[in-house]
Amino acid sequence: MTAYVRPADLAEATRVLADHPAWMILAGGTDLMVHAQHQPVPVGILDLWRLPGLGGIDARQRDDRSWLRLGAGTTWREVIADARVQHALPNLVAAAREIGALQIQARGTIGGNLGTSSPVGDSLPVWLALGAEIELRSVHGTRTVPYADYCTGYRKTARGVEELITAVWAPVPATGTRLHWRKVGTRKAQSISKVMAAAALALDGDTITAARIGLGAVADRPIRATAIEAALVGRRLGDDAIAAARAALAIAPITDVRSTAAYRHDVAANLIARFVAA
Ligand SMILES: Cc1cc2nc3c(=O)[nH]c(=O)nc-3n(C[C@H](O)[C@H](O)[C@H](O)COP(=O)(O)OP(=O)(O)OC[C@H]3O[C@@H](n4cnc5c(N)ncnc54)[C@H](O)[C@@H]3O)c2cc1C
Repeated sequence: MTAYVRPADLAEATRVLADHPAWMILAGGTDLMVHAQHQPVPVGILDLWRLPGLGGIDARQRDDRSWLRLGAGTTWREVIADARVQHALPNLVAAAREIGALQIQARGTIGGNLGTSSPVGDSLPVWLALGAEIELRSVHGTRTVPYADYCTGYRKTARGVEELITAVWAPVPATGTRLHWRKVGTRKAQSISKVMAAAALALDGDTITAARIGLGAVADRPIRATAIEAALVGRRLGDDAIAAARAALAIAPITDVRSTAAYRHDVAANLIARFVAA
């Protein structure tokens, strides 16, 4: 028989996980239930749904910077509805709006998207573009890992077996930073991405002074388009930046059941071109 624990707080949750690292960690269940029929019955379930201490969005100061700390149990609907996120991180809101449809957004969580760590996880390029950090907690303490170091391969992460994802720390971009997110799939809703891209462009007037671009569904994990980022610095929004971005696109996307490498390459180029248009 499968054991089941619904902890009262984070301390109990980490204790249970320390004692039973092989148990299934259940949040909204929108990823887990899809695969449940094809997996062995779990020996135990640690149910985090609505766990006190795992939800909530807070403004924080850390390292002389302003951050939004988004609890791992925050659902996509809660992300969409939060005025501070709408204001500071519109590209995250744009991604949340296209995760599944309303029912999935009401149940699916930030932590679940990070836990599954699929190359088509729609929030993941946003974390790359923002320079976000993932907060992990176990009975031994709490640590934060830059998203770029968190995802270590195809559905592989730096999370230890005794660790819970407890939050994402997103630095609040400087005023005037342009933030983008765009997904291309087969339709407007309930669609798995063929390609998605996120960007944070710091500007001085219409000149790009810094760029971070995350791409999803083009490799075994979300990747940064570092060559394009470098090529964009000093370029003016519009034809100048578009030409530089297209010339610097150096990705070798995958071909799979959803799309071809050539399509992904061209769509990624077009998405970035839109981001840097005047
Ligand atoms: C019909 C449908 C459409 C979908 N569309 C999209 C889409 O468009 N874009 C997209 O990105 N995703 C999509 N998904 C996938 C899914 O909804 C998201 O990935 C969602 O964010 C998962 O959150 P969850 O809380 O339901 O995760 P769960 O299913 O509960 O968990 C997912 C994984 O994360 C682990 N986990 C969860 N929380 C934690 C935690 N705090 N600490 C450690 N591990 C944890 C679990 O153990 C599990 O391995 C879709 C799913 C369905 C069924």
